[in-house]
Amino acid sequence: MIVMKFGGTSVGNADAFAQVAQIVKAAVAREAVTDKPGVVVVTSAMSGVTNMLIEAAERAARGDESFHQAQQDSLLLKHQVVAGRLVEDGSERAALTRIFEQRLAEFDRLCSSIAVLGELTARGLDVVSGLGERMAAPLLATVLRANGLRTEAIDATELIVTDNAFGNAAPITDLTEERCRERLLPLLQSGVVPVVTGFIGATVDGVPTTLGRGGSDYSAAIIGAALHADEIQIWTDVNGVMTADPRIVPNARSLKQLSYEEVAELAYYGAKVLHPKTVTPAIEKKIPVRVLNTFEPSHPGTLIVEKAQAEARGTVKAITAIRNMNLITIAGRGMMGVPGIAARTFGAVARVGANVLMISQSSSEQSICFVVPESSAGEVIAALRSEFQRELERHYIDDIHGMAHINIVAVVGSGMRGTPGLAARVFTAVAQAGINVIAIAQGSSEANISLVVIDADVTPALRAIHDIFELHIPTEVRTHKA
Ligand code: ADP
Ligand code: ASP
Ligand code: MG
Repeated sequence: MIVMKFGGTSVGNADAFAQVAQIVKAAVAREAVTDKPGVVVVTSAMSGVTNMLIEAAERAARGDESFHQAQQDSLLLKHQVVAGRLVEDGSERAALTRIFEQRLAEFDRLCSSIAVLGELTARGLDVVSGLGERMAAPLLATVLRANGLRTEAIDATELIVTDNAFGNAAPITDLTEERCRERLLPLLQSGVVPVVTGFIGATVDGVPTTLGRGGSDYSAAIIGAALHADEIQIWTDVNGVMTADPRIVPNARSLKQLSYEEVAELAYYGAKVLHPKTVTPAIEKKIPVRVLNTFEPSHPGTLIVEKAQAEARGTVKAITAIRNMNLITIAGRGMMGVPGIAARTFGAVARVGANVLMISQSSSEQSICFVVPESSAGEVIAALRSEFQRELERHYIDDIHGMAHINIVAVVGSGMRGTPGLAARVFTAVAQAGINVIAIAQGSSEANISLVVIDADVTPALRAIHDIFELHIPTEVRTHKA
């Protein structure tokens, strides 16, 4: 039994839907002859739809009452075109139209009340932003039926029970597993393909939530783990996980295998190909995750397992960058030897719920620097100024400030562990490219070296590091092992 997740571009237009139908049909046939047959499909919203929904809600909150009405028409058209091309049966098409109209009426009501209130809460935004998946799933289920499969569209609000951290909700594992099994296993046993909405869930009380942008990958992994699937497949628009984002490093190469640890590091530091939490549910149950290309289905893609194939010592696998960060510095001569400054610093950061992506402390103890998302920088600085008010007055601490336009470039590979000289090569590469490295850090796992650079240096840094480690060449044939 497998779970197959299709991303936004994989359901981006009628041709893509037709392609997905062929892929699912072939998988159902293959699965039918296994010991544990069955296919669960998880779908994202059609590409661009989630952004359209969010933009409409944000504009409504600023008082724009007409924008969402225009969006409503183009959203209806976008989905109707696919149905018109791929669903011949008139009653099936009519049923779909009713679903689209229902969802869009909900969208209209929500945006109108957001406009009246002039306020958009995280809870309200989750209801709006999840509507795309709630149109895509019935559409894909119907297209698959038109291709001879038995299917049922399912709203993940019935399956994935989460906490109430709107916009970035976390699943409650035992409840979720129970519901997934109860609802999905009988369908699989009777040969039906459940087509589940990605991205969304609901609290125990039934309030809709989302798992964070790009969260459909995570949905597939949660469902795969709940059902003890044999494999979780993430179908996207590139040939698996690559040595770098191919949009930035044109000679990036796709990787045959990666470990859960490596992929988690890459995703955490911005590799958009997988949602950062995707592998978490798979790790516990040791379920392989495969990343595949909808538009080149015969390509083997990337297999993600507990221990990736033994690689040459010192192998750098891939590089990535995370943007829109802020580097916060807290500095002062009076900090030296004063115990507890670091603990108080991170205590204050934790109280405002900010995510710290990297920390570096100078050995002279005269400063602590750390990186947080730009969106939480203001709050973090205010919290620090209040925490250290006395130290600031007495000039033990001279300065607390943030630096915007910051990015982290992360060099990732489990094989880097215990290999001397790797950091030196990273720095040679960036120095030769004339890049100023603002701060550095090595994760304690040693599977990662991170550099902080300004906006203009991200692309040149990625390309320079990719080149020096010859990541475009398969490891087996590289002249010097990275
Ligand atoms: P989907 O809609 O299928 O979820 P996404 O757009 O979320 O697809 O993710 C796929 C995109 O991730 C690719 O088109 C690619 O530009 C980007 N990407 C970033 N880093 C990597 C990487 N290391 N390997 C592959 N793709 C990457
Ligand atoms: N549609 C959602 C988003 O755009 C989830 C996903 O695509 O994975 O963030
Ligand atoms: Mg994605």
